[in-house]
Amino acid sequence: MTGMDRDASLDRIRAHRSPWDIIIIGGGATGLGAAVDAASRGYDVVLFEQADFAKGTSSRSTKLVHGGVRYLQQGNVSLVMEALSERGRLLHNAPHLVSDLAFIIPSYEWWESPFYGIGLKVYDLLAGKYGFGRSKHLTRKKVIEEIPSIQTEGLRGGTRYFDGQFDDARLAISLAMTAVEQGATITNYTGVTAISKDPEGVARGVIVVDGETGESIEVPGKVVVNATGPQADAVRRLDQADVEPIVTPSQGVHIVLDRSFIPSNSAIMVPHTDDGRVMFAIPWYDVAVIGTTDTPIDEITLEPEPFAQEIDFILETANRYLTRPASREEIKSVFAGIRPLVRAGSSDSTSALSRDHTILIDPDSGMMTVVGGKWTTYRKMAEDVVDQASILGELQPVPCQTESLRIHGHEETLRTEGRLSFYGSDASDIESLAADRPGLAETIHADLSTTRAEVVWACRCEMARTIDDVLARRSRSLLFDAKASSESAELVGELMSTELNRDQNWVSEQIRVFRDLAQGYIIS
Ligand SMILES: Cc1cc2nc3c(=O)[nH]c(=O)nc-3n(C[C@H](O)[C@H](O)[C@H](O)COP(=O)(O)OP(=O)(O)OC[C@H]3O[C@@H](n4cnc5c(N)ncnc54)[C@H](O)[C@@H]3O)c2cc1C
Repeated sequence: MTGMDRDASLDRIRAHRSPWDIIIIGGGATGLGAAVDAASRGYDVVLFEQADFAKGTSSRSTKLVHGGVRYLQQGNVSLVMEALSERGRLLHNAPHLVSDLAFIIPSYEWWESPFYGIGLKVYDLLAGKYGFGRSKHLTRKKVIEEIPSIQTEGLRGGTRYFDGQFDDARLAISLAMTAVEQGATITNYTGVTAISKDPEGVARGVIVVDGETGESIEVPGKVVVNATGPQADAVRRLDQADVEPIVTPSQGVHIVLDRSFIPSNSAIMVPHTDDGRVMFAIPWYDVAVIGTTDTPIDEITLEPEPFAQEIDFILETANRYLTRPASREEIKSVFAGIRPLVRAGSSDSTSALSRDHTILIDPDSGMMTVVGGKWTTYRKMAEDVVDQASILGELQPVPCQTESLRIHGHEETLRTEGRLSFYGSDASDIESLAADRPGLAETIHADLSTTRAEVVWACRCEMARTIDDVLARRSRSLLFDAKASSESAELVGELMSTELNRDQNWVSEQIRVFRDLAQGYIIS
């Protein structure tokens, strides 16, 4: 059984006296992607995540690998083309985590089908060889056949197009494991608290604090990359106290309903909500994920709180398109994420801000900051940032290796059946674990499909350290059913304490902290 070992990583970090080639701060899509890229080029790379991998925005997305039909409407053809190519590569490299998905835009006005139909033909053309399927006009009868729960009153027909869907947090864990396999050293619960400088003021390393023990470690490096998403400005301020902020944070909320609200393999796409955004209602595992919003916010935290108006807005919009309206009480979970949007001039509207990524190199310290973009383009962002880092750090030039690099779990013969399929090649090891120890094949709760074996696996191989790590990101239980997850905390805590060698105080404290956190995902 191989995997990620936090203690071994920390031992390596303490013993590493020479400068690392690249130090990455932040273990979301951007930082993990950069770690995979750098390690696969043979660079000596270390990554520090202050909380858990994908604890920030990267576990809170709409879970689409997409070109962005909306950006096409805005005329941003190059962004769409790049994202469509990345979509194709990701499906190729991580087929256990990415799949194609049909989206139906229902039309209730005579002009809608031809209007969206033409736009989507352009989308098909831009995808070229990476296309997932051709878009098509659908009759009213066909739309109802595809989505039996769709509102039929006034329905004229629709347009179907294809895009990609994925499991964001699981992809992050698989990227972390890929990075380790490629030779990177990575740890969670190690926050960077300071940037070390040489006498000329050039960034030459970081100070990290082990969140579990409080130990402070000085880590030397040739290049420091700040990949902290919405928190990029806070880390830039560790480097230069008076820098102008570049991130305009905006919050996006999703609600999760029972899958019976979308008893279909197709998603619904609403191209223009009352606030001018796109809204998706997506079948995902055994649930339906609906969102999102775009609300400018002032405070950046790792657990952003959905506003009541955001939940009402999503429900109201979704209910216009469903025959059986959903009520607040039927929401199984609600989650919010913060977009790390890069400031563009003086626009007040965050939906008009750049979705492209930005790389900044501080003129005094040389610290690099990479911010913006989206999950879909994480690989390209990583390629760009490591290209720049290798020049800055005067590293031996090596071309990017990740275009066709398989992501951990990839297997030639894809296991499409069964609920462990997202583990890819690890699924058989988890099954063996469940078969070896009595009780481990049982689920952690009557309303959750996660097995006890997966909790053990998460601790042994996937660097899970808290109940939240297991229930929110190793399994997605917290998003599937927040109340059931809260109820399972005791059992999960007990299983983890055996694996991590923790005492009863640890278990009690973990249960308390997790139940408090889960409350934020439950609609009272
Ligand atoms: C509502 C919403 C929906 C979205 N939907 C999609 C979608 O469907 N498809 C798509 O492609 N993209 C989508 N995106 C965009 C995508 O999720 C983000 O672009 C991406 O996850 C950003 O990743 P990141 O690594 O830059 O930031 P994050 O995931 O936030 O990672 C930054 C990490 O840095 C860590 N950190 C911060 N400070 C420190 C420190 N001092 N020391 C160590 N670590 C630190 C944080 O803990 C965090 O884990 C969506 C975004 C939102 C908000």
